[in-house]
Amino acid sequence: MEESVRLQYLEAMGIDVWVPRHPPVVAKQAFDDSENVGWASQSEAHRVVFPDNEAAPTQEQPTTGETAVNRQHAEPAPPTAASDSSHKFESDAFAPLPHHPKPHTDDLAWKDLQHQVSICRACSLCETRTQTVFGVGNKHADWLLIGEAPGRDEDLQGEPFVGRAGQLLNEMIRAIGLRREQVYIANMLKCRPPNNRDPQADEVAACHGFLKRQIELIQPKLILAVGRIAAQNLLHTQQPLSRLRGMRHELEGIPLTVVHHPAYLLRSLPEKAKAWEDLQFALSVYQSLEQ
Ligand code: URA
Repeated sequence: MEESVRLQYLEAMGIDVWVPRHPPVVAKQAFDDSENVGWASQSEAHRVVFPDNEAAPTQEQPTTGETAVNRQHAEPAPPTAASDSSHKFESDAFAPLPHHPKPHTDDLAWKDLQHQVSICRACSLCETRTQTVFGVGNKHADWLLIGEAPGRDEDLQGEPFVGRAGQLLNEMIRAIGLRREQVYIANMLKCRPPNNRDPQADEVAACHGFLKRQIELIQPKLILAVGRIAAQNLLHTQQPLSRLRGMRHELEGIPLTVVHHPAYLLRSLPEKAKAWEDLQFALSVYQSLEQ
């Protein structure tokens, strides 16, 4: 059984809720297996590292929008007294969700920002979008993942990274010991470029204020730039990803590391090993912040 922890702030309100202490970490083998179309294979999704006496978790529920943030709080897990020293991570950094009392003003700021994004007509992408794609996840996350721009699936569903690349991104998140609901995922652009072409400089500039405000509100401890386009634009450089990998950069005063885009990894299976390294590097930067 997974170790569970009682949500103390709910306990104080007379509500008894137990949640898994932290998710299992995806085994590297699952990432390297070249028979899979990458990390995204559903069957691989649950090939994870467990202590000998632990069972695999049940199928992960699909996540949608805002409700995803609270789902783990709503899923009670049976309490267990078993201490678990064999998980890869012992740090509280991987406990479920930290307790952050949300001030009312914070809620209003998020609502206002989301509204501003939804009505934005600052660039021509508003003409062709189905809808804006704001971002999704834990608004108090330590990790902020920033991709490039919505693709077709994201434009239709209004949520970042929901297509095949999104499934692989979920596996990449598991490689750092977290679940999708525990991080925040956003894109540089909130609207889909036609035919998934690269974002143009004026579009990135027009959208930057929204991303900046998201960063201010979330105050993440680490930013992970997902893919070359995001990395180059966020860091204002033309250097190839190969030069940006394995380095600690900074955005808005927050440490930033880069990782290959899951869509690229789906096309280039040999690069998966590099992405694994990038994720472990990001994790090491994050862990160094904890000390
Ligand atoms: N690629 C991205 O960069 N972002 C998405 O949301 C989907 C695909």
